[in-house]
Amino acid sequence: MESQKKYPPTFSFEFFPPKTPEGMEKLRATWRQLIQLKPRFFSVTYGAGGSTRDRTLEAVLEIQKDGGNAAPHLSCVGSSRADLAATLELYRSHGLRHVVALRGDLPSGAAGAGELRYANELVQFIRETTGDHFHIEVACYPEIHPQARTAQDDLKAFKRKVDAGANAAITQYFFNADAYLRFIDDCEALGIDLPIVPGIMPIANFSQLARFSDACGAEIPRWLRLQSYGDDLASIRSFGLDVITELCDRLLSEGAPGLHFYTMNQAGLVSTIWQRLGL
Ligand code: FAD
Repeated sequence: MESQKKYPPTFSFEFFPPKTPEGMEKLRATWRQLIQLKPRFFSVTYGAGGSTRDRTLEAVLEIQKDGGNAAPHLSCVGSSRADLAATLELYRSHGLRHVVALRGDLPSGAAGAGELRYANELVQFIRETTGDHFHIEVACYPEIHPQARTAQDDLKAFKRKVDAGANAAITQYFFNADAYLRFIDDCEALGIDLPIVPGIMPIANFSQLARFSDACGAEIPRWLRLQSYGDDLASIRSFGLDVITELCDRLLSEGAPGLHFYTMNQAGLVSTIWQRLGL
């Protein structure tokens, strides 16, 4: 963990762009509450092929207007180089300087993978077209990306993104601190040296979490026995708060350079975790 201890901790919150005006109104209330916590930045996800481009940008600009720093995500899957250059120019024309660069996932049955195949190509493209204008975050996977052939291949893919010019990384969520700590050791062995901020998913609802985890390859440890809560959402949230607070506490005390919360556009759980951690 030595490489991580030199980076000042960065705290951030992630949102997805809502589809409806009601969803947007709820999201406004969420970020207005979370702005009080003074995170380093908020980020807003981006749909494959630019499907959420306008909504992603709208949320980012509104957050900035309310006094928060905000970073749009950008994914390359399903997009041409010309589309990506236009989006980067749009971000730049609005004075944005921070982007989360991803490959993205095509919805099943969607046609056309786009012109860039992997996120390292997107990072390279951003550097080629916009130089050092953007601070670039990339994703990484302590429990291995589900499409990687081996853990070592996945680490090498991560290193290619770093070598292409990424400034920082955010991990996929995980519930086992040792997965992160071991991943950092493996990164250090490969010479990867940039802040690697753990992504934190609060536990709110088992069936939703199980669906996400299936898709992204994050393990829900059996010892958590989350199924046993059934429909008792109050109990699962209360237990989840204990589990996640303990996880965050351990990560920070081991030297993790901050936390990135997947908020699911809700302020309640992350605010409580924040308070319990005394941040
Ligand atoms: P990559 O780094 O390109 O890796 C994808 C897979 O390809 C990995 O298995 C890797 O090992 C493999 N690989 C890489 N290079 C090669 C190569 N040359 N040859 C063979 N295999 C290779 N998705 C969205 O659509 N929108 C978002 O806004 C979004 N935000 C996210 C934010 C975070 C913090 C995280 C962790 C994920 C996010 N995702 C988002 C999901 C992400 O797009 C998926 O996990 C996607 O499957 C991989 O994206 P990546 O950028 O990590 O891809």
